[in-house]
Amino acid sequence: MVEIGEPAWRGRQVAEALYQQRVRDVSEITTLPKGLRERLAAEGWQIARPAIARAFQSADGTERYLVQCSPDDPLTVETVWMPEGDGGEAGDGSEEAAKEWRRATICVSSQVGCAVNCQFCLTAKLGLQRNLTAGEIAGQVVAVLERHAVRVGRDRVNLVFMGMGEPFLNYDNFMGAVRLLVREVGLSPQRMTVSTSGIVPGIERFAQEPPDLRPKLAISLNAPNDQIRAELMPINRKWPIAAVIEAVRRVPLRPRERITFEYVLLGGVTDRPEHASEVARLVRRTGLPAKVNLIAWNPGPGVEYATPKPEAVEAFRQALAGEGIPVYLRQPRGRDIFAACGQLKRTVAGWGPPTSQDRDVGGPASVAT
Ligand code: SF4
Repeated sequence: MVEIGEPAWRGRQVAEALYQQRVRDVSEITTLPKGLRERLAAEGWQIARPAIARAFQSADGTERYLVQCSPDDPLTVETVWMPEGDGGEAGDGSEEAAKEWRRATICVSSQVGCAVNCQFCLTAKLGLQRNLTAGEIAGQVVAVLERHAVRVGRDRVNLVFMGMGEPFLNYDNFMGAVRLLVREVGLSPQRMTVSTSGIVPGIERFAQEPPDLRPKLAISLNAPNDQIRAELMPINRKWPIAAVIEAVRRVPLRPRERITFEYVLLGGVTDRPEHASEVARLVRRTGLPAKVNLIAWNPGPGVEYATPKPEAVEAFRQALAGEGIPVYLRQPRGRDIFAACGQLKRTVAGWGPPTSQDRDVGGPASVAT
């Protein structure tokens, strides 16, 4: 606005129109004088934001979207909506249950693909295609809020930066998105969680962020020791567990805040009783207020691991709880539409690689169940 000779506070009006009123065209920014709107349009100023190109709906109410970030770029990223209404939690899968959400979680991508190469993750198969901009990361959230007519402040929405990509390898844009989401959209950073595979320089920067902008932190641990972790997550060779924990210690936690350790249970690889004891010791030794989120591995094509047996999952959970570690078993959401953890790979239908349909944008969102 300043560049075109307008006062800076006009910029605030534009930001409000973009992020709160979610307008789609310059002509709809009614807080600007009509003459200015006409001038902006005549000079070619446009509003563009990530758009849901395709939507897939799970029997459990979860929706997975292929989001086209920019009209000029056909690449899509994945964003997931997980409603958790009382009916939905009952898990009867009915349409009504899916609609009656009381709170919801949006899983947001920070990169197209990922370079970290965790062996159990389908996104890793894409490699890193590009970083998303701050606007593209925040814009995924705005697109989903609009689709579900979410009223920020009234509806309870949590964000998890756990979609495609490693947020701390796109740090400036990730935190830029957080700033937009907090300051412009009005979401609370305490309802946001960012998960990292353990990028130590990123955690160190994150520790410096002010509390009114800092989401909660989750560490994608996934193994009881360095040896197994290095096999599953090559990044561990660069930053082993002790280095990650040391960096996490520098993050000043808010009252009652806990660090989350995410732990993917791979059948026969990370789900044995001795692994549970080792994880309990590891978490206790950190001395951090922490909890463990267990995730039974979600199968994906071309990834040679086994889903853990339900008895093994329950035994693991009980072993940690028995050691006094707060532990939660994350229910798989949207497994049937490849929306669950580690499954995001722009898969359009059934088992298989992304197809040309991935880039098929425009037109109304189609729903596949
Ligand atoms: S688990 Fe996360 S960090 Fe690891 S490859 Fe997949 S998207 Fe990247």
